[in-house]
Amino acid sequence: IIAQETSKDPALQQLIQKLKTTADDSPFTIQDGILFRLDRIVIPNSLRTSILAELHVTHIGISKMKQLARRYVYWEGIDKDIEHLVKSCIECASLRKNPPAVTVHPWDDPSANWERLHIDYAGPFEGHHFLVCIDAKSKWAEIRVLRNAPSTDSTIQLLNNIFSFHGFPNVLVSDNATIFTSDVFKAYCSSRGIFQKLIAPGHPATNGLAERNVQTLKQRLKSLANEPGTMTDKVEQIVFRYRATPLACGKSPAELYLNRRFRIQLDALFPNPQFKNNTNADAQPVRSLSVGERVQARLHINNRDIWQFGVVARKLGTRHYYIKLDSGRMLKRHINQLVSTRVPRPDPEEPAASQGS
Ligand SMILES: [Zn+2]
Repeated sequence: IIAQETSKDPALQQLIQKLKTTADDSPFTIQDGILFRLDRIVIPNSLRTSILAELHVTHIGISKMKQLARRYVYWEGIDKDIEHLVKSCIECASLRKNPPAVTVHPWDDPSANWERLHIDYAGPFEGHHFLVCIDAKSKWAEIRVLRNAPSTDSTIQLLNNIFSFHGFPNVLVSDNATIFTSDVFKAYCSSRGIFQKLIAPGHPATNGLAERNVQTLKQRLKSLANEPGTMTDKVEQIVFRYRATPLACGKSPAELYLNRRFRIQLDALFPNPQFKNNTNADAQPVRSLSVGERVQARLHINNRDIWQFGVVARKLGTRHYYIKLDSGRMLKRHINQLVSTRVPRPDPEEPAASQGS
């Protein structure tokens, strides 16, 4: 589609013509009819609106959209178009965030991923509660949806699920709600070697990491309120996009936590040649037999499968063979009806020899 639309875009065609006729150094290259600016695809005018919409999925903000665009797509004035889109988005405008409060930073930087986990509850929102977990080092997020008001038991159940993917953290930071301070929860943590840190009342900002993400989650959920899908669908979509989007440091939580980039919808824009025409049927190696090899062949006689012995007489393509059975009969068999064997051919001389003795 991109190559097609590129060929119809007069401005891009002009650029391509110029590329073909001058030998000057240029950041632009052409590949399979698609124009690239360094490693970003140049999007023709007709597709820009839908690309902008894709960049804005889950209503992520201006700077994050620009970061994401920088990895995938380019056109002249894209940054301005992004700003214009967000500023004219009704959902975003009606949910303008308060300027960020000054956050206290009493925490050391953890030395490893999943060493310190910040957890907090969000909600209720449209009848749902949300357990939000953020890894302090990579900012990797896990969110679980609850239909009922959270309790110690349900929290432990959700954490068990999360820890089954990631293992136990060394430190678990939460506020001192009774869910987290109950004897059962304390015992849960201590028996697993998880050190609990509780935030003093009136200082929610010290759990800033979880707090801020709770705010962001709420905002994104509200912005998706008019779109179809269950609450779980929406949370999934939000977390997916969050993990794939670069943070202020330039790397996404997925890169920081998993050491690789997430593939997202925008990756479908790029050609994917190494997987073309590589169907399983072709890739599967076919067993092969050689002429003269001793085999047993499956025959279907009187409603029964029986095996008869013989040798390969001739190869017919990769899957079919002519077999000469020990009885002298010739027949054609598919490779699936043949196996090689070590059962020797009964020596025709033998009965004659025994007769003679
Ligand atoms: Zn928006």
